[in-house]
Amino acid sequence: TDRLFGGFRKTSERLTGNLSGIVSKTRLDDEQLDRIEDALILSDLGPRAAARIRERLAAERFERGLDDMAIREAVASEIAAILRPVAKPLEIVAFPRPQVILVIGVNGSGKTTTIAKLAHLFQEQDYGVMLAAGDTFRAAAIGQLKVWADRLGIPIVSGAEGGDPAGIVFDAVKLATERGIDTLIVDTAGRLQNKRELMDELAKVRRVLGRLNPAAPHDVVLVLDATNGQNALQQIETFKEVAGVTGLIMTKLDGTARGGVLVAAAEQYGLPIHAIGVGEKIDDLRPFDPDVVAKVIAG
Ligand code: GDP
Repeated sequence: TDRLFGGFRKTSERLTGNLSGIVSKTRLDDEQLDRIEDALILSDLGPRAAARIRERLAAERFERGLDDMAIREAVASEIAAILRPVAKPLEIVAFPRPQVILVIGVNGSGKTTTIAKLAHLFQEQDYGVMLAAGDTFRAAAIGQLKVWADRLGIPIVSGAEGGDPAGIVFDAVKLATERGIDTLIVDTAGRLQNKRELMDELAKVRRVLGRLNPAAPHDVVLVLDATNGQNALQQIETFKEVAGVTGLIMTKLDGTARGGVLVAAAEQYGLPIHAIGVGEKIDDLRPFDPDVVAKVIAG
């Protein structure tokens, strides 16, 4: 929790700063509720989550009155109520193996790093992991993923820059099946500038996967950079359309004041949140614990 808390420090400071100085004797009045709602919106929780939290607080009696601390506690409890239904770790359950996890997201979101972190997490749980370098558009992406694979000592299937991602994924699934690998994590291109092309490419990857195993991909995990704030929400919208999304991992929650966007995403899309990234190191992927995160966000 300490490291998680450190990670969310700026987000937490923003919300607690915005919430400070509201005191009520018993039930919150309209002006106080307005101030709380504004504070939540200013802290990137989004208008919908802010309105929902306001409504819930308005319905409560708070017999003993509220000071700063009590306001934060009340807000944290409402945030937790929004986050709880979406907290869902990524689990290896597919049979037959391998469970194919497609990882999508715009370049720079932390996709490659998150794949390495996930691979490491599964390794620690004694699963056999393989990677597929399906972002053939950027030579650097292939190289970087190989470096991680070497460091972690896990097999990787890759091709040349400009190669066909669907071909690589085909080879990877076959090899993973032969070797009894538990999970194959597939990197994909993230150039959202050309939405049509990306859509076609991902559709082709999905077709090839589906031919080998009708249940694949089992997971389509969208990696989002929290520092993008509300733009991260737009990316959910776009990737839902481009690729289908089954769950989210939000990165870079360390060092941003915009972590409230996690709550906005949960409220608006209801997609499972699998984990959160709180740093650049291999073990900086944290399970998404809604109660801890809510407490940390609301200070
Ligand atoms: P990709 O282009 O989406 O594959 O992104 P990368 O995985 O290469 O990450 C882009 C940059 O963000 C790198 O410098 C990473 O070290 C950094 N990064 C990734 N995840 C996190 C995180 O959770 N916190 C921080 N602070 N940096 C991160």
